[in-house]
Amino acid sequence: MSRPIICEQCHKVIEEKEDLVTASIFFRVKPYHYFCYGKDVRGARSVFFTNHPLNGISGNLSYLLTLLMTVALFLFTKSFIKYIALVYLITETGLRIYAYCTYSRHLKM
Ligand SMILES: [Zn+2]
Repeated sequence: MSRPIICEQCHKVIEEKEDLVTASIFFRVKPYHYFCYGKDVRGARSVFFTNHPLNGISGNLSYLLTLLMTVALFLFTKSFIKYIALVYLITETGLRIYAYCTYSRHLKM
C-alpha cells in the first residue's frame, strides 16, 4: 500500500476506487469520497466555482463529448474556436492523467 488518499471534505482515508471521485477546481485536482463530493462540491459552491468530476460515468461521458466536439470542430469549421476547444481538450486530458497517476492507480478496485 502506498500513501493514503485523504478526502478533502471529511479528511478520512479513501479505501476503494469505486468510492473515489476526483474533481478539478481551478485546475487543481482534489480527491473526495463519492458521498462527500455529492454533499459538498456539487452544492452551493459549484455555482461560483466551476468543478466537475474527472472519473466515473459522468466524468468519462463529459470527456467523450469534449473529444467528439473537438474532432467535429476540426473537421467542419475553419474558425479559430477549434483551437480553443483543442486547448480545453488538452487541459482536460492532462487533468485526467494527473488524477489517475496521483490518486486512482493507488487504490484497489
Ligand atoms: Zn469524505
